Parts: sequence; structure tokens; C-alpha cells
Amino acid sequence: MRTHRCGALRPAHVGQEVRLGGWVHRRRDLGGIVFLDLRDRDGLVQVAFGPDWTPPDLMRAVGEVGMEWVVIVSGQVVARPEAARNSEISTGDIEVRATGLDVRARTSAPAIPVWRSKGEPLPAEELRLQHRHLDLRRPELQRNFELRHRLFQRARAELTAQGFFEIETPILTKPTPEGARDYLVPSSVHPGQFYALPQSPQIYKQVLMVAGFDRYFQIARCFRDEDLRADRQPEFTQIDIEASFVGPRDVYAVVEAVLSALWSEAGEPVPTPFPRMSYRDAMERFGTDKPDLRYDFFVEDLGALLGRRGFRAVDDALGNGGRVRGIRVPGGAALSRKDTDRLAELAKGAGVAGLATLKHQAGQLTGPLAKLEGMTPDLAQLGDGDLLLVAAGGDHVTSPALDRVRLDLIRRLAPEPKVRHAFTWVDDFPLFEPNPETGGWVFAHHPFTSPHPDDLARLEAGQRSGVRALHYDAVYNGNELGSGSIRITDPKLQLAIFEILGIAPEEARRRFGFLLTALASGAPPHGGFAIGFDRVTMLLSGAESLRDVIAFPKTTAARGLFEDTPAPVDPRDLAIFRLAPTR
Ligand code: ASP
Repeated sequence: MRTHRCGALRPAHVGQEVRLGGWVHRRRDLGGIVFLDLRDRDGLVQVAFGPDWTPPDLMRAVGEVGMEWVVIVSGQVVARPEAARNSEISTGDIEVRATGLDVRARTSAPAIPVWRSKGEPLPAEELRLQHRHLDLRRPELQRNFELRHRLFQRARAELTAQGFFEIETPILTKPTPEGARDYLVPSSVHPGQFYALPQSPQIYKQVLMVAGFDRYFQIARCFRDEDLRADRQPEFTQIDIEASFVGPRDVYAVVEAVLSALWSEAGEPVPTPFPRMSYRDAMERFGTDKPDLRYDFFVEDLGALLGRRGFRAVDDALGNGGRVRGIRVPGGAALSRKDTDRLAELAKGAGVAGLATLKHQAGQLTGPLAKLEGMTPDLAQLGDGDLLLVAAGGDHVTSPALDRVRLDLIRRLAPEPKVRHAFTWVDDFPLFEPNPETGGWVFAHHPFTSPHPDDLARLEAGQRSGVRALHYDAVYNGNELGSGSIRITDPKLQLAIFEILGIAPEEARRRFGFLLTALASGAPPHGGFAIGFDRVTMLLSGAESLRDVIAFPKTTAARGLFEDTPAPVDPRDLAIFRLAPTR
């Protein structure tokens, strides 16, 4: 039906007869000449209808054509006169003089506009998600999906080149714990029994290693029924990787190769290897396990500087096993009282009692901490115009508080980043986290993560806190790109870890028996990683939301507004599954 795509025409095509198909982006009638901007996946082209070259019946027909109609146009490519060139579109040096017009779909006015004038805001997101078929026509979104496609192919090519096999694992399966709730699927063949949708292919990929496949990957859809979080999707895509006879550094090398391939596919070459830091250092220096390393703001322990100088809140915190930690802000003395009050509010939201300040301006110290005995700008190492922001308490409150403060300062002061791309590995995560609900322990990553070999004795001695795992995260500019670990291969150790997590051996056998049996049959040392593919695509496309890189995303409330999900089920269907309707 077509000779070219609309967006593909260039001055080299001048003189050619072409046939194009697309959507009418916009129509303008200018003194007897009618211009259609015709749009397809590749872009826009201007089609001109004029009495000198277009037959009269078509001149009449084009007068009726509306926005988003589907038409097939034929005509000749001509160069635009100098004054009419448009450098903003790739086809801006030419236009097509129409000699044929075939209207293939007439549409009523679109529910949301695809064409917008410059600077016109987008319709509300809810409306756009409801009319996703129209929203997806937007050139920005079309570009995001073109990039997404290229990133998929590049990841596949890179992993294939490294000897990985792409193997699919089941969607109808047993629960794979990754810290969320499961989506359950009732079986009509086995009423009263359920499959779970995978939270990840974790167990299967380990079994593939036991089966000898050596290197596996999958572009895997994962499902997690989680509480609502702005930057999460209940179903998402990850590049899931597992390899045998590897330690952490082998996995880092594979993941670095994939990530750098993806970044260069997006036109952003990045150096490898990435630096590494331990979880402990990340928490100590940045208050978070996903530090944004583009900026030189650091969290410091200020106990030695500020303690025992007659400041009650500081000494109380130190006396109660807490710490006094803060951030030095070069040039921060210029922040207004309102600014520092707002930072204090942010910090309080994370659980600290407040944020104390010490400002140095022209030899004068001001702020509540200026009263400290013997305090001088030199002692505090505060240059003229600098500010010290201080929080006191347990690390579990000062870390998140100072993380928030640090990120807000970066946003507000917009310092020049040291580098554009700051990747880092964060490793040596704790194996367990306290579970405030039960008073027991939960896994920090998933229950298949190997304890750190140097901490096995502690684990055996009954210690839980401070036991490290062979778990690592890849972090980029303050975003977690994914995580992975070296796995437990000894079924006895696996059972012992389940037990610590409150899963008794019988229950462990019922839920994970297939893994335990596989492990007992000769498991090679193995480990892997999962790259959050949606987040990577979002970052590389410059999109602001995961929803702009997923074709049919859910809202933050886990609803599909386009297809209207989730939806109630007919009571007769429930009966087939022997499920009772709730009232
Ligand atoms: N299964 C893990 C996840 O989905 C990734 C891994 O440990 O390889 O986060």
C-alpha cells in the first residue's frame, strides 16, 4: 500500500512519486492550499493539496478530512522553498504534492488530542491512560518504545555473545518469595487450588543451573502485589540472569557489560568496571543504599565535634546509644530560615526530633549549635558561607533523615554534577532485617541468598543482626537498577535459613520441596542478577514515569484504566472455582 514511511522522506526523494499511509496530525487551510501533516511511526510529513496539481474532487474531499483520520496519499516529493523549510521535523526540507487521497478511516474528534500546540500541557494522566490508544500515538511515546525495542535487542545480543541461553520459565507456578504478596490464579480443573504468578523466576533459574545450563537469561515478566508506591508497577519486566561457577565479581562483569551496552545503545557510553562500596559505607556516608554519587555531599559522624559541649539534645542522643550525624553544605549559609525549616520538616518525617544548624558567615557562627562551648568556625571546619545540618538519634532514623535532606539540597542548590553517569555496586548487604510486626527476622533480599562466608560462624552462633549476605545492588545516579546474589547451594543451609525466617522444615518442603530436591542432586556454585528493565528504559529515554515506557501500565493504585482492571467476576465463574463471592 505504501512506498515509504511518512517520516522517512528527505531531499534525496525530490521528484519521486510516493504513496504514504498515516494519521492526519493536523490540517491547515491557507488561501486555497490545504496542508495535511501526515504522521506515522517514523514522524511527520507535510502533504500539500493545491488546485494546480490536485484534482478538483480531491480538493473538495480534503476539505472534510479531520484530525486522526487514516488516509493513504499519493503524490510527488518536492523541495520546499527556502522560507517554508522547517528544521524542527526530519522531513522539513520537502513536502508531498498530493494527486491522490484515499480515506481509510473517518473518526470523530479524538477524546484527547494527539496534536498539541507548542507548550500546551498534556491532558491529565488519568484521561490519557483511559485513552491509551490515542496517548500512545504521541511522538514522544513512540520514541520511547522504539528505544525500548532497541534495548531489548541489544541486551539479547550482548548476553548471547557471552554464552547465555534465553530460556522461559512458567507463569503459572508456585509462590517465589521476593517480599511482596502473590497474585493467585484459581484452577477450574482443580477447584480450590491455585497457581501463583511469579514474583521472579528465581527458583526456576536456580534449577536451570542445577540442570547444567550454565548461563541463563530471560526477559521476564514479574508480578508483585505490593502496597501502593509511586514508582512501582504490579507487573514489570526484568532482564533476569543466572550463571554457574561464579562469584560476585563474575556476575558484576556480566552485568556491567549488559548495562554499558544498553547505555551505549542510547548514545551514552559509560566506563566499566563500576566502583564498589559496601552497604555499611553507603549507609554511613549517604544514609541510603542507593546513593547518588554525582554530588559531593557526605553524611559525617559529628559526635566527636559536637558531644560534651553542653548541648543537651546532642549529649542525650549520644548517651542513649544514638549518634550525631550531619551534612556540610558549602555555600549553604545563604539558605533562608524557611529553607532550613522545610529541611527540618523533611528530616522529622523520617523520625528524628529535628535538624540543628550551624552557619558561618563572616567569622560569625549562628544557629542553635553556635552556643556550643568552645565552638569556632575553624574547629567546625566551616568555611565562610557554609552550613552544617545536624540530626541526632539512632542510625535507623538519622540515615533516612539525612538521605532526604541530602537529596533535597541537591535538588534545591542544583550543584554541577561531578559526572553525568555515576554507577556503583553496593555489596555486603545484611542477610536479615528485623521484622517489626513479629519481632523476628525477614530476609533482606530473598531467602535463597547465600550468607557471607566470613559470617557463617556468627550465623551458627545464633547471631542475626550484622550477618552479611553475598548480595549486591547496581546503583545509578541514585536509582537502584537491580539486585542479585550468590545463592545457597547446600540444602541443609537452605533449610536452616528457612527456619530462621520462621518456615519450619515441613512447610519448607511443601513450599520449596522442588528446589530442595534439586539442590540435593548436585548444585554448582551459582549466582545471578536481575536488571529492572522498565526503570533502565525510563532513565535512558528521559521519561519521568515508568508509565511512559510501559505500553499498557497500571496506575499507582494498580488499576488498568484502559481495559478497566481489576474487575469483578461473574458469580457463576466463582462457583466453577469453588470460590465464594465476598459481600
Ligand atoms: N530474583 C531477584 C529479584 O527479582 C534477582 C536475583 O536475585 O537474581 O530481585
